[in-house]
Amino acid sequence: MSDLRLVVVGAGGRMGRMLMRAVTEASGVTLSAALERPGAPVLGEDAGLLAGVGALGVSITDDVDAAFAGADGVLDFTVPKATVAFAQAAARAGITHVIGTTGLSDEDNALIDDAARQTVIVRSGNMSLGVNLLAALVRRAASTLDMEFDIEIVEMHHKHKVDAPSGTALLLGEAAAAGRGIYLKDHAQKVRDGHTGPRRAGDIGFATLRGGSVVGDHTVIFAGAGERIELSHKAEDRGIFARGAVRAALWGRGRAPGLYSMADVLGIRD
Ligand code: NAP
Repeated sequence: MSDLRLVVVGAGGRMGRMLMRAVTEASGVTLSAALERPGAPVLGEDAGLLAGVGALGVSITDDVDAAFAGADGVLDFTVPKATVAFAQAAARAGITHVIGTTGLSDEDNALIDDAARQTVIVRSGNMSLGVNLLAALVRRAASTLDMEFDIEIVEMHHKHKVDAPSGTALLLGEAAAAGRGIYLKDHAQKVRDGHTGPRRAGDIGFATLRGGSVVGDHTVIFAGAGERIELSHKAEDRGIFARGAVRAALWGRGRAPGLYSMADVLGIRD
């Protein structure tokens, strides 16, 4: 089988560089193009030099349609507005779209759902094996423990992160809610400040820490009367997300159009 031709969008970003490195290191895939937004300072630079893997002869471009026409898939860790546009372009081109971008609104997700009618989209707030396994464990714990156990999710990320709670914290919240048979949107408590009154029974609380260079720490706490269970994951290297995204693109080859998650890719969906 020929190599899967992949485009990395947001090539100049922290994850973009990591994705280009992961594509060059993985077998069965090749970097066919690297995109940045119009006017970005890295346009015209060699993608490999930018990613620190040596020259690849692939220049950073802003021509989305040309890049997608010559590709089988796109790896996208950018910003919500760009991701929605890339989903629509990927649907037009009929190529797999792997979305790692977080902070997507309900409207953004509805547009991505539309695009997934025409092409394969894998979307996940966290592309690592460890976090997706953690989500499965959280779901199991939430379905086993009764409502006497309060669920709180604590996350910490580097100081450059712009959205909160993290996509991973929300993914873990969704897993906990699914385990309890409730909707996260009806029970999420994302901010506490001032005189909040006592904790509402059944809420799923979030606490956000930001600072330094932390790649991503998440802990889900089940706090009961007289005991506490804590399930944690600590990401030490962004490479785990990039390798997961490449794996998702390979998994998407030949699939029917639809919206998939990393739990599908890893075969750990309940
Ligand atoms: P970043 O360093 O700010 O990178 C984002 C990149 O996207 C920037 O290079 C930005 O360019 C570029 N971009 C913006 N608009 C674009 C457009 N229209 N076309 C092409 N490129 C465009 O951020 P990051 O740390 O890499 O994170 C990116 C996203 O991935 C965030 O949402 C983050 O939460 C998420 N993330 C997800 C996972 C996961 O596993 N799902 C893991 C890590 C991070 P400019 O800077 O020039 O605007």
